[in-house]
Amino acid sequence: MSFKVLICDKVHEKCAEILRKAGFEVEVKDEISAEELKNIIKNFDCIILRGKTKLTSDILEDCGRLKIVVRAGIGLDNIDVRKAEEKGVKVYNTGEATAQSVAELTFGLILAVARKIPYADSSVKRGEWIKSKLTGIILSGKTLGVIGFGRIGSRVAKIGKAFGMKVIVYDILFRENGKLAKAKLKEALEEGFRVALNLEELLTEADVITIHVPLTGDTRMLIGEREFNLMRKKPILVNTSRGGIVDEDALYKALIEGKISGVGLDVYSEEPPKNLKILNHPHVVCTPHIGAETFEAKEAAAIEAAKKVLEFTGCMVEEN
Ligand code: NAD
Repeated sequence: MSFKVLICDKVHEKCAEILRKAGFEVEVKDEISAEELKNIIKNFDCIILRGKTKLTSDILEDCGRLKIVVRAGIGLDNIDVRKAEEKGVKVYNTGEATAQSVAELTFGLILAVARKIPYADSSVKRGEWIKSKLTGIILSGKTLGVIGFGRIGSRVAKIGKAFGMKVIVYDILFRENGKLAKAKLKEALEEGFRVALNLEELLTEADVITIHVPLTGDTRMLIGEREFNLMRKKPILVNTSRGGIVDEDALYKALIEGKISGVGLDVYSEEPPKNLKILNHPHVVCTPHIGAETFEAKEAAAIEAAKKVLEFTGCMVEEN
């Protein structure tokens, strides 16, 4: 029986191309309902998907010959990983492929909020010339607080340094003693970043705070009312990680009460967001979860996803 792959969520066509060339039977369904997926999942050895299709416990319950799931991207929160493992299904993501893309968008949002760029743009297009209402802040010399010093956070920290910012980084890993923790700590110190040993220290001192942690049971609502109350410098807050990590009600309250000066959002607890009051605030810049939405990142994630399948099945991985 041939190895059958189902590709969902508009993964770049390079993925199917590589796998077909390697002799796999590939079916592409850019849009698939939960019901259809539940009915056909058992016919496939592999599923490759992005963030839209949800692999819930219910769908995975009767997954027949399924052996491997690859997320062409980073976050695994649309996949019930525990259920997959229980069913003997391996789950992978494509870590590096999209990291630079997300890091650059993050900085784009920081600049957009700091200099009110979207508001300035729309005012000129409306025929206005309101320079004094558009006074912003300089980033150089300010303190950038990076929560989560992984693939994306470490890149954002380096961009901040290039902008002349002082950088404070906090990662839960820094409290551990393993090889990865030591390597990350060494990297941060060699870059000249200050390492915060707790989140509170970063929240108190940063002028710009940016979040780069995965959404897990531990990080859900990581930034809520208590954390906003610790922010002494009325920082700009940017979230390009996952919506559930910031308490959106507390975020709105913090902005209205002047505890933070501006917000950049690429992710929301519900996507697309519905009736989210904060979106109408003039100091908020928002994008529709486009962190990884670059031509380069989509192609790289598709190639990396195909390679994961080739490696899993023991096929030779050819470069290019
Ligand atoms: P990563 O795994 O490389 O890094 C995450 C880091 O967060 C790790 O170093 C981990 O130790 C740290 N961490 C975990 N829990 C923490 C906590 N409670 N406090 C402090 N640090 C903690 O992940 P990454 O590739 O850098 O991705 C980061 C986030 O970006 C993920 O949530 C991912 O879903 C999101 N993402 C968003 C987009 C987008 O389109 N906006 C695209 C890709 C990834």
